[in-house]
Amino acid sequence: MELRKDPLTRSWVLTGDDIPETVRPAAQCRFCPGAPDEVHQISSRSGLQGAPWSARAVVHPVAIYHVEGSPDRRGAGLYDHMPTIGAHEVLLENPKHDRDLWNADDAEIEQFLLLSAQRVQDLKGDVRLRYISIYKNYGPGSGQEFEHPHSELTATTFIPRRALYELRACLDYFKQKERCVFCDMVAQEMNQGERIVEVRGDFLTFCPYATRAPYECWIMSSTHDSAYEDFTLSQAGRVRDLAALLRRTLRRIRTITESFHLVVHTSPNKLHASASLGYWKTLDDDYHWHIEILPILPSKSKSYTFKEVYYSPVSAESAAQRLREAAP
Ligand SMILES: [Zn+2]
Ligand SMILES: [Zn+2]
Ligand SMILES: [Zn+2]
Repeated sequence: MELRKDPLTRSWVLTGDDIPETVRPAAQCRFCPGAPDEVHQISSRSGLQGAPWSARAVVHPVAIYHVEGSPDRRGAGLYDHMPTIGAHEVLLENPKHDRDLWNADDAEIEQFLLLSAQRVQDLKGDVRLRYISIYKNYGPGSGQEFEHPHSELTATTFIPRRALYELRACLDYFKQKERCVFCDMVAQEMNQGERIVEVRGDFLTFCPYATRAPYECWIMSSTHDSAYEDFTLSQAGRVRDLAALLRRTLRRIRTITESFHLVVHTSPNKLHASASLGYWKTLDDDYHWHIEILPILPSKSKSYTFKEVYYSPVSAESAAQRLREAAP
């Protein structure tokens, strides 16, 4: 596989004629403590109440990105391509096979949030890597790969398209107004209230105004920080509130659908200069980390076929009202 850049949209795509590797099915869960199939551990958080670990990062058994090599871009005429340098990890959220983010203790979820923040911070030390994505696919139709409660991490030598659009938009907004667009969004949502699902401590969940899918939710902090990992590791006392709000938001969404995608959007790696984004001059002020949750509704699957214009037959206002009324 290799990465190719679309010269029109400037997006990188993963492509090639390799037969895609699939994870061979295991008789027993490979990620449960004591599993015979030894996993390659990268780091772990110490266990709670006698458990061997509380959250753990391991190398993905069929990783898309690999750490070895040089990420040099090469040109072929007008086209750019580069090898799949990076990292691909499985972040185990809990040692227990049946404790998902919506039915775990807040202390357990907090350990998972701290582990993911540590992984992002560690990987940002590698100057080759531009962006670290943390995401979770859960349920039918989501692309979920394993049964054990987990999220995934990819570290890439490019910034994924959606994150890059956001970064460019935040930079443009800041250039015009000298304010963070997310801080302005939080202020307006708190003021209007109609799209708010829940406020907990300094965090809020709301349905975004231009929702891409029915019941889409964003979780963010009302205080400004550009990097999820810096915030999480420096404000440890507030992470428990974030854990509780994440758990409660997922419980509300699960009253509507089981399946969802979740992604953490944090700032890119500043060690890697970016010509297209003004070398991060105002990044700390213009970008604001957040979590996006995109529920998958089989009955509304038409919405996902609209690749160019998102189509959501449930408005953000109706979605927020229904999620507020759901018992988390
Ligand atoms: Zn398991
Ligand atoms: Zn902000
Ligand atoms: Zn985002």
